[in-house]
Amino acid sequence: MCTNITELENFQMFISDILIRNKSILDQTTKLQDACTHLCRTISKAATSCGCITIDATKQQYTFSENTSLDQVKELMKTHVNGKLCENCQELLEKELGRVLFYLSAIANTFDVSLSDVLQKEKYRTELLGKYSLK
Ligand SMILES: [Zn+2]
Repeated sequence: MCTNITELENFQMFISDILIRNKSILDQTTKLQDACTHLCRTISKAATSCGCITIDATKQQYTFSENTSLDQVKELMKTHVNGKLCENCQELLEKELGRVLFYLSAIANTFDVSLSDVLQKEKYRTELLGKYSLK
């Protein structure tokens, strides 16, 4: 876990050093939106163009008996994804996730926010609520 935090801090410093073109917060926020759009499109294309996965969306069941445990609820909730990404789609997904992280880091840098701190605070809040956070 500590290795990831160090990598995140290093990545944020790296972005700070190399970011010249998209220094404006307006460029950074619109680039983040664009990266998120490409991420979603990559997932769609894995299903519609490549076909390595299928997305079978159905209504989620939100009503359970009072005897249903949260672990059972977790098992019953669906991702709606069937199959596994092929090597090519996996690579594209990782590339788009990287772009999201890039612009997220740029925005954090603009406001002097440490993503490592954000990660730790979010983890702490989530741990406090545990499964009841319902994210
Ligand atoms: Zn694929």
